[in-house]
Amino acid sequence: MNSQQTEEKALKGLAVSKGIAYGEAFVMLKRDVETPVYEIRDADKPAEIKRFQDAIVKTRNEIQELKSKLVKDVGEAESAIFDAHLMVLEDVAIIQETLQTFEREHFNIEYCYSSVINKFISAFERIEDSFILERIADLRDVSRRVLDNLLGVEAPKIGTFSDPLILVSSDFAPSDFALVDKTKILAIVTEKGSQTSHTAILSRSLGIPCIVGIPNVEDEISSGMFMLVDGYKGSLILNPSAQILRHYTEVESVHREVQKIFDSSLPFPAETSDGVKFQVKINISSSEDIPDGAMNYCDGVGLFRTENFFLDCGTFPDEETQFAAYKKAVEKAGGKPVIIRTIDLGGDKNLNLMKLAGKEENPFMGYRAIRFCLDHKDIFMAQLRAILRASAYGKVKILLPMISSIREVERARIWIDEAKGELTALKKPFDSSVQVGAMIEVPSAAATADIIAEACDFISIGTNDLIQYLLAVDRVNDMVAYLYEPTHPAVIRTLNFVVEAAHKAKIPVGVCGELAADPVFVPLLLGMGVDEFSISPKSLSEIKFLLQKTSFEAAKNLRDEVLSIKRSRHVISRLRSFHYELMRLYVK
Ligand code: PEP
Ligand code: MG
Repeated sequence: MNSQQTEEKALKGLAVSKGIAYGEAFVMLKRDVETPVYEIRDADKPAEIKRFQDAIVKTRNEIQELKSKLVKDVGEAESAIFDAHLMVLEDVAIIQETLQTFEREHFNIEYCYSSVINKFISAFERIEDSFILERIADLRDVSRRVLDNLLGVEAPKIGTFSDPLILVSSDFAPSDFALVDKTKILAIVTEKGSQTSHTAILSRSLGIPCIVGIPNVEDEISSGMFMLVDGYKGSLILNPSAQILRHYTEVESVHREVQKIFDSSLPFPAETSDGVKFQVKINISSSEDIPDGAMNYCDGVGLFRTENFFLDCGTFPDEETQFAAYKKAVEKAGGKPVIIRTIDLGGDKNLNLMKLAGKEENPFMGYRAIRFCLDHKDIFMAQLRAILRASAYGKVKILLPMISSIREVERARIWIDEAKGELTALKKPFDSSVQVGAMIEVPSAAATADIIAEACDFISIGTNDLIQYLLAVDRVNDMVAYLYEPTHPAVIRTLNFVVEAAHKAKIPVGVCGELAADPVFVPLLLGMGVDEFSISPKSLSEIKFLLQKTSFEAAKNLRDEVLSIKRSRHVISRLRSFHYELMRLYVK
């Protein structure tokens, strides 16, 4: 197909960043620059090695520059992707193997480098793991830069285009953002990628509509073709007719109006239409993720995922470094509570740090989170002391992830008390009444939530993991994604049981998994009695609005009704109709 073709055609992908865009496509063909191969004489070898070192240094400077440009737009946490790129660039194994190949085979350095990279990529491709797939993308992205620098190839500067464009690529890499003036990206359409790919994460942070998973994009689309991207539904319409455009103009203005309606909820109290109070909090990975002013309209931080900070550091940061990071978040929360979760490394958040733990066949069910912490007292105690010290600057609560029995909570609490003792001896201030809670995200913990609640001051339900473990569906495996059903009656019953168990123990219960930000699901959670909804800052206004407009009585009836439904698809249709009935009162 080419740009001359004017036939309307609809393609379907996966919507990973909301929004609608219409405009001209710019296809970023992946430039597979031919890597030349030629022999190097012994006398020229030092110069060839110097050329390699210069290319690495130049690439490092470029990546650092890209990072500092992006920090301004998306914040420290999201642009940390480039720290991963720097690690790939400076990976000792890759550099050493390139130099050894060069010494052995006497071919030019770009040829040796590219054969080593290809070897690493093929080895990684044999591992079926979405985390590794993202690392392959990093490897491709970084090595392309190094090769461009060795070969003197100029990367295309899309930013010099005068009009905003829809970027189309088989695999839009995170560093491709830096090639473009971001105000000129209308949308991004790719073949590869997933909800959790770096490109999707960055698009969401930048507010750029994005669809992934469109097969053969580079064959279907050519530069200059007009198209419409529906980042709500994952639809892509090539050469849309005037009728379609009119339709989408309306859709877009409806979305804008709806967002205004949602935003209007922010200054008002978090209270249902019949006066029942609830709390909305935000999920963060660093203090940078707390939007300015957010604490004026939410109830604090419901989940601070500290492991992302560890992953960004690429090591286990010491107590002082952690203390500074936690204190910053606590101060930014301005007296509102900050629930700091102890490290949840393992599963898909592995990185080199976990080499301590060795290779695992099934990391999601392995040496993860509290299991790892209880086995590494020094690491855990350093984090506990850092969190406790931060509690002197505001209101802090400690959350323990991946708990599977009361024993783990009790063991962790013994160490928390020990950490308090150490700080007292050192005369370092902390809040001695700091609360401790458990994440309920493992079926054994859910089934014994009443027992676990006895050892906790609060409970937080991690639905992302709870669903995957309960249904035996890997949360990052596309092949079984259709089985990842939050509306499965097993999930509904379990959530209801956990909330009841917490309330019987007279402690509050929150949900901090993605389900708490799902507009269709939220009234049901409210009806179950969930006290706290901890969600990404971007979802705050919509969820607060929905909860304010729902009556607790109606939500409880919805819960009773849904608990008696036997099939997932019937649950979803009931939840959708409840959501629709609610919204139609406010959105005409
Ligand atoms: C969860 O499992 O729902 C959760 C909030 O934790 P994470 O997504 O970090 O595993
Ligand atoms: Mg979890």
